[in-house]
Amino acid sequence: MKELYFDNAATTQIDAQVFEAMLPYLQDNFGNPSSMHGAGRVARLAVENARRKIASILHCSPASIVFTSCGTESANTALRSVVCGSDLSRIITSRTEHACVLQTARDLHTRGRASLHYVALNTNGTVNLADLDGLLQNNTGGSLVALMHANNETGVPLNLSLAAEICLRNKAVFFSDCVQTVGHYPFDLGRSGVDMISASAHKFHGPKGVGFLYVREGLQIHPLLTGGAHESGRRSGTENVAGIVGMAKALEIATEQYSKDSLHIRYLKNNLREKLIELGGVINGMDDDSALYTVLNVGFPKNDRYENLLLELDMAGVAVSGGSACSAGKGGSHVIEAIGATDRINIRFSFSRFNTRDQVGQLTTLLEELLAGAVRQT
Ligand code: PLP
Repeated sequence: MKELYFDNAATTQIDAQVFEAMLPYLQDNFGNPSSMHGAGRVARLAVENARRKIASILHCSPASIVFTSCGTESANTALRSVVCGSDLSRIITSRTEHACVLQTARDLHTRGRASLHYVALNTNGTVNLADLDGLLQNNTGGSLVALMHANNETGVPLNLSLAAEICLRNKAVFFSDCVQTVGHYPFDLGRSGVDMISASAHKFHGPKGVGFLYVREGLQIHPLLTGGAHESGRRSGTENVAGIVGMAKALEIATEQYSKDSLHIRYLKNNLREKLIELGGVINGMDDDSALYTVLNVGFPKNDRYENLLLELDMAGVAVSGGSACSAGKGGSHVIEAIGATDRINIRFSFSRFNTRDQVGQLTTLLEELLAGAVRQT
C-alpha cells in the first residue's frame, strides 16, 4: 500500500505552486532585503508584497504583520515581549495550550515576571468563558490572556470574538495561538478585537521555518530578538525571503480554495468518524461542526487489541499521531490529561486538501482488518 498521510496537524505537504513561487528567491533573487542596491530592493519588494497580501487576506494593516521563523517564536514573542515590556503582572491561559505557550508562561512565572492562572475547562474541553470573565474581574494588575483558537490535538475551538470581547471589557491583552486555524478559516482581524495572533506557514501547505505574529496597531511590543531592528524593530534577523513569499502564496491559495477544500475535508472527516465509532472509538473533544474540521481525535478502549494500533498503522505505512509532534516522547499528552481521557488509547487523524476519498477508503479497510474481532471483545 502507498503511504497514507493523515498527520496534517503536525505538518502539511508544500503545495507545488508555493514551491514554484519560492524558487526565484532561493536562486536568482537572493539579495538581502535590507541592502540598498538593486538586488536588495527586489528582495524587499517581495517581502513587502507578501506582507500586503497576508494583511489584505486577514483584513488588517500590513504594519501589524511581523514575520518570524515559526509559530513557536511568534508565541514566545507575544508572551515574553508583552510581559517583560509592560507592567502586566498576570498571565491567564488554559492547560490545553500548545507547549510553546504553556512552557513560556511557566518560564515567565518561574522567573517571577508574572503570576500564572489557568482558566477552567468545560467537560467537552472548551474554555469556560464565564470563569475567564470572573478571573479578569478579580484582576488587580494588568493581565495577558493566552488562549488558542483551536486545539491541535482535539480540534476543540474557542469562540474568538467572545473571548476578545471579555478581554476588551476587562482591559486585558489577548493573544490567540491561531497556528491550526490560519489558512483554514477566514479571518477579519481588524474587527476581531484580538490583540495578537500567531501563525505558521507549514500548517497550511507553506514551507517550514516561517510564520508571523499579528500585533494590533497601537500595541507596542518589545522585540524578543534584538540586533538590526528588522521588522520595524520588532524582530531582528534577515528575513526568510523565500519562506515569506511562500507563506503568502500558501495563504492566498488556501483562501481562494477555502469553500471547496473545507467541504471536501469535512466530508472525509465525517466518513472516517463514522467508521471509527463503528470500530469502538469515541470522539475526544467536541463532536460537532464547530470543532476544527481538519482534526479527528478518537479514543479506543485500553485493551490488547487496540494497544498497538498506532504502531500497526505506522508499519502499514499510515502516518497518524498519538498527540502533537512537539509532545512526542515526553510521556502522555497534557491535552488528553486535561480533558480526562487518559483511560483510552487515543489517536489523532488530521486531514488536508491533499487527502482523497480513496485514501480514506483504504484507511478504513485497513482499520477493519487490523481491528477484526476487536469490536466483539469490547
Ligand atoms: N501552536 C500550535 C497549536 C501548533 O499546533 C504548533 C505546531 O504543532 C505550534 C504552535 C508551533 O508551531 P511551529 O511548529 O511553527 O513552531
